[in-house]
Formats: sequence, C-alpha cells, structure tokens
Amino acid sequence: MKKPPANPTDEDSVDNCLFCKIAAKQIPASIVYEDDDLLAFKDINPAAPVHLLVIPKKHISTLTEAQPEDTLLLGKMLALAPKLAADHNVSVVYGNDGSPTRGYKTLINSGPDGGQVIYHLHMHLYGGPRPWRGMH
Ligand code: 5GP
Ligand code: ZN
Repeated sequence: MKKPPANPTDEDSVDNCLFCKIAAKQIPASIVYEDDDLLAFKDINPAAPVHLLVIPKKHISTLTEAQPEDTLLLGKMLALAPKLAADHNVSVVYGNDGSPTRGYKTLINSGPDGGQVIYHLHMHLYGGPRPWRGMH
C-alpha cells in the first residue's frame, strides 16, 4: 500500500499527487468552480446524484497537516459548500410550514481509518435524492 506523504510540502509527494495534477490542469476533471485558492470538480465515481470534491490548490496531505495559517483556506472550503449546493440545486429549502427539504452532506476523510484514499485534502459534497451509495 502506498505510504501517505510524511510531509505536506514533500516535493516528491506533490509531484505525484493526483489532485495537484488536476489543480495544475495536467489531468482533466469536470471542474465546476475555481478561484485563486480552491478548485471544485465532479467526483469520478459519484456516490450520490451530486458528488463534488473541493480542494485547496495548495497541497495539504490531510486535515492533520493543515497549519494555523491555513485556517482561512479551510473556512473558504466550507463556505463554498452552500454556493455549490445552490448551483447544483441541492440547497436546503424550507417549505411553507417551515420544515427543511432537500440538502447536502459535507465530509472530509482523514487517514486510513477515516477512509481517505487520496492524500490531498478534499471535502466531499454529496446531494440529490436518496438513496446514496454506502451512506447514511
Ligand atoms: P477519499 O476516499 O480520499 O476521501 O476520496 C477520494 C475521492 O476521489 C473518491 O470519491 C474517488 O472517487 C475520487 N477520485 C479518485 N480519482 C479521481 C480522479 O481521477 N478524478 C476525479 N474527479 N475523482 C477521483
Ligand atoms: Zn496534492
């Protein structure tokens, strides 16, 4: 099994990182949002009708490697979720009686027990009508 990069700035790990290559447009992806710091694209193997990934362009291996100076970046990732959800028609919508309908899930997997497969920090955004594959 491939060992996770020991250090988020390790040049070799960055050179071989799939999501760094997507961020650098060396590997194609279905990109739905981009700014100076972030990229969002469709998951290649969607587990829900809407399944997007939000990544920082900067390589951070796992949430554990995020530094205090990355706090704004992490906030931007989270703050992007409702915009993406709205763009993909899965926002929380309140009915006439005030009860919420629809909605989406945001998820960050960290490390093997956390189910992380790609060692470049990413936030999943799932939405759309259930059931979703393998999820509660
Ligand atoms: P993790 O398990 O690391 O949290 O999630 C990694 C996600 O990346 C998986 O949902 C997987 O389907 C997705 N993925 C893996 N390779 C690619 C790829 O080449 N392109 C895209 N768009 N998604 C990928
Ligand atoms: Zn990377």
